[in-house]
Amino acid sequence: MQTVSSISLAGGQGKTTMVLFVARLLAAKGHTVLAIDADPQSSLTTFLGFTVEPDSPTLLEVLKKQVDTKDGIYETRYNNLFLIPSDDALDTVQDYLAGSGTGALTLGRRLKSVAKLFNYCIIDAPPQRSQISLTVIGASDGLMIPVEASVKGLQSLIRTLELINELKEEDETFGGRVLGVVPFRDRWVGLRRTTESESNIESMKQITSQWFEEDLVLPSIRESEKFKQAINRGLTLHEMGQEDLAYPIEVLVDKIYSLDGKHD
Ligand code: ATP
Ligand code: MG
Repeated sequence: MQTVSSISLAGGQGKTTMVLFVARLLAAKGHTVLAIDADPQSSLTTFLGFTVEPDSPTLLEVLKKQVDTKDGIYETRYNNLFLIPSDDALDTVQDYLAGSGTGALTLGRRLKSVAKLFNYCIIDAPPQRSQISLTVIGASDGLMIPVEASVKGLQSLIRTLELINELKEEDETFGGRVLGVVPFRDRWVGLRRTTESESNIESMKQITSQWFEEDLVLPSIRESEKFKQAINRGLTLHEMGQEDLAYPIEVLVDKIYSLDGKHD
């Protein structure tokens, strides 16, 4: 199982959107996929049309080891796609992770027992720098960083790269790879990108090049109502007939394949 997380340390950067479409595309290609909602806001759980029944285990109970990991995994309405859901009670896990001393390693440890059941695990992280974010990054082989093409997005990118760098260099919690930075809500008017998007994406390239030698800024996710419509209707972009908009998701899937050297 290769584990890939969507991380960006600000709200509304496209984390959940990216997890949803990447997980669904991998599942549609026939891979067995475990999606994990690691955000107490539980947007991914909602986007996947899943309702947590009272008293049924979620990521909270899995992290606290109150249940076996497999008992926190549910089928979704989509073939090959499974979910460890969350609800707002997940917030209470912060103290548990902080108190354990090795909180950043907790999620990775809990996933070991199910690693043989899935080809890919795709995790949605919360927007804050928190114990949950640390354990999500610690569990990951690859990270995808969505960044809104705005000033807020650039600040999120810097905070996120700083955190990844700390976890990599200082305490070796993260031994994986950054798969790419994906500009989110890239605005175009007709055939031209707006000057604001243009300059923000240029800044993303400059910021990223201070940390990495290769150009990690990937094809952008366009500003488009079609994404929201697809989410609301439970459809993939391909099912909506939006192959062009799905291109950045396809590129991400290729990057994920490159983690284990597999090709479609
Ligand atoms: P949070 O930090 O709150 O978890 P997030 O980083 O997960 O946010 P998303 O929830 O994925 O961000 O996206 C933010 C909003 O943008 C959502 O309401 C979503 O419906 C909307 N959205 C998704 N794709 C697009 C798009 N291509 N263009 C415009 N809006 C979009
Ligand atoms: Mg989200």
